[in-house]
Amino acid sequence: MHYSKFLIPAVAAAGLMFGSCGAKKGAEAQADNFDYNVDRFADIEVLAYKVPDFEKLTPQQRIFIYYLTEAALAGRDILWDQNGRYNLAIRDLIENVYTNYNGDKNSEEYKGLELYLKQIEFANGIHHHYSMDKFQPKFSQEFLEAQAAALPDSLRPANMAELMPVIFDPSVMPKRVNQAAGQDLIATSANNLYGPGVTQAEVEAYYNGLKDPNDATPISYGLNTRLAKENGKLVEQVYKVDGYYSPAITRIVELLSKASEYAENDTQKEVIAKLIDFYRTGDLKAFDDYSIAWVGDLDSQVDFINGFIESYGDPLGMTGSWEEIVNFKNQEASHRTEVIAGNAKWFEEHSPVDPRFRKEDVKGVSAKVITAAILAGDSYPATPIGINLPNANWIRAAHGSKSVTLENITEAYDKAAHGNGFNEEFVIDPETAKLMDDYLFITDNLHTDLHECLGHASGRLLPGVDPDALRAHGSTLEETRADLFALYYLADPKLLELGLLDNPDAYKAEYYKYLLNGLMTQLVRIEPGKDIEEAHMRNRQLISAWVYEKGKADNVVEMVKKDGKTYIQINDYAKLRDLFGELLAEIQRIKSEGDYEAGANLVETYAVKVDPELHREVLDRYAKLNIAPYKGFVNPVYTPVYDADGNITDVTISYGEEYLPQVLRYSKEYRTL
Ligand code: ZN
Repeated sequence: MHYSKFLIPAVAAAGLMFGSCGAKKGAEAQADNFDYNVDRFADIEVLAYKVPDFEKLTPQQRIFIYYLTEAALAGRDILWDQNGRYNLAIRDLIENVYTNYNGDKNSEEYKGLELYLKQIEFANGIHHHYSMDKFQPKFSQEFLEAQAAALPDSLRPANMAELMPVIFDPSVMPKRVNQAAGQDLIATSANNLYGPGVTQAEVEAYYNGLKDPNDATPISYGLNTRLAKENGKLVEQVYKVDGYYSPAITRIVELLSKASEYAENDTQKEVIAKLIDFYRTGDLKAFDDYSIAWVGDLDSQVDFINGFIESYGDPLGMTGSWEEIVNFKNQEASHRTEVIAGNAKWFEEHSPVDPRFRKEDVKGVSAKVITAAILAGDSYPATPIGINLPNANWIRAAHGSKSVTLENITEAYDKAAHGNGFNEEFVIDPETAKLMDDYLFITDNLHTDLHECLGHASGRLLPGVDPDALRAHGSTLEETRADLFALYYLADPKLLELGLLDNPDAYKAEYYKYLLNGLMTQLVRIEPGKDIEEAHMRNRQLISAWVYEKGKADNVVEMVKKDGKTYIQINDYAKLRDLFGELLAEIQRIKSEGDYEAGANLVETYAVKVDPELHREVLDRYAKLNIAPYKGFVNPVYTPVYDADGNITDVTISYGEEYLPQVLRYSKEYRTL
């Protein structure tokens, strides 16, 4: 399991980012005519984001960004195929039927087809991006078959009969990533990171056979490979030029080379050269070299992640999903994260964990606030709001890590959620609502900063402890650790001393929101009768349910009923902070010692099961608000400017492309597999 990574914006995605963010942003919001709300369907809202200050970059930086965004879009098909081996064929089929449709566009069948198309485009495949459940089409197989039959031969898939049960039969490939305890997580997961017929036991035995427990600088096993059976034998099919996904990776390499010509400096050129080397060789040592170079590039304004990075798509957390985010530094806002990172040592030394598990020498935590210029692969349309990389433990320890907060994205969430009624429905009283109105934007951003640049970077493993010791619970417990670190320090007077907050009660806004989300409102993402599976959701419930239970004796947190509705009431914020600290110490112990049993016990006791009655109530109340529980983004459009000789001289940015036109254009223009 890799160290982590992405703080998925549950808050925002669950419609919790509301209220203005203080005087500064309030005035700005008034004057803002940008259209943030782009599309709304099923449980999804598609938003747009702005790229402020793109025009303040130099033409060279803009061209650099342009080629990086092209490289980003060139990798789109890789993710689709990683998410399921029928995904690209199904995408072709549905897109072809949709764009060639001449019948009644008011028919239920057509509307069902359009909805399904929007859903699979959002999920980069036929499984929900978050619940991992397969979409059930609201149109009939007969309709699809009749429409497909009317297509020209060249637009009709040869394996139509094979695709039908994959689309329509709920029992076929029901789950992309299955995390249910006691099942074969590989055999029962529909993703394409492993070949057909491969079992969890085989995967674990295979990688255990490769790992050397005494290797202090292990490669990230399996990160860029598909483990499949060839003639009954397990073989790693490597993602690389002339390997698996070669056409897409070759195109990415071409565009990265093009980008390199416009790099800001030699360090950046070197980073790109190392990434290209990795894509050419598929050698994970080359990836580590690249990661070390990347984490050392602190002076460039433009930056990007590109590759097989996060492993949430793999139930065993080995193989990375392809993604890219291109960004540039927001100089002004970066002051905040620089202050935090600059005090990393203080935070580490004052953390409530056993000194044996603390990092002795805290260095190399770099943190900045960035402006995203494009979201792609696994970060599109649903995107993280914070990133902390690289994932390899030993690189983080020896070379540090880079932590970023995507503030133009968090701002778009905030703006789009204004006045959606959530606050009024779920927050217990006007005083708490006011506090959240005033301080949630800044405390949410600080939470992300602390989670990413200190939380994930804190602590250490005892010598000899396998970084993958927590196995299937590794992701959840790692997110728990990072969230607890952030929660604990949000209430610390140190933040006032550092000038990051101006009110000693500001943290209460985040505490209230966190427990409300973890105990109640994140349940809007779960279907009745189902368990919580996604790592970040498990982490939030684990923390919230644990402090709720442990604080019962002192009545720290209560669930109160008013007019038949349940509300969270926090009676003792100071004690709540102590409980966060206590749990942080225990989670860090579990991680440092690799105590699988204790970790599994916490997850299974607190993080998985849902109270069906409360769940029903939350769903009912939430449904009345008609807020989409998940959000994602369309990208802006970048257009190169050429001189009379056809040389690129600059790049312009434009907004306003709608959701379906954008994804359909991507499918057409960036088809690589
Ligand atoms: Zn995280």
